[in-house]
Amino acid sequence: MKKIKIGVSSCLLGERVRYDGECKRNQTVIDLLGQRFEAVPVCPEVELGMGVPREAVQLVAGDLAPYMVGIESGKDWTQAMTDFSSQKLQALTCLSGFIFKSRSPSCGTGNVPLHHEQEKSAGLFAQAFTKHFPALPVIDEEQLQDEKAREGFIARVIEQGR
Ligand code: SF4
Repeated sequence: MKKIKIGVSSCLLGERVRYDGECKRNQTVIDLLGQRFEAVPVCPEVELGMGVPREAVQLVAGDLAPYMVGIESGKDWTQAMTDFSSQKLQALTCLSGFIFKSRSPSCGTGNVPLHHEQEKSAGLFAQAFTKHFPALPVIDEEQLQDEKAREGFIARVIEQGR
């Protein structure tokens, strides 16, 4: 049986790609993938060339959209991430959905705090993904803990994978 491909933030699969050289291996994600789905790991920050370990980044509110900067240095990664996303998305047309890492300035689906603001935003890569593939279901590992949300996501992925 042909496996349906789902994009997954690499750190959720146990890859040590986080800024501190650690991972966020998530058993719910791994169990969901099981025999039926194939994970396509993506770590936007590493693939962009930010390195491991690296300075942590945060989102800061801008006039039109948030920008992504190093927490200590203030180095602005916004344009580099935007360019990377445009290019990477061309290679992800095989996907039927994406499981993102929550609260990440790159991967968060909408729960990323904006520095010194009350509001929250999506991470820059996740935002570009949903804009480019508006029909594809996305979820994060926290939302996956909810059975109804998980089942809904799986049903939509299967629908897309047909
Ligand atoms: S949250 Fe996204 S950018 Fe951050 S380590 Fe995980 S895959 Fe990489």
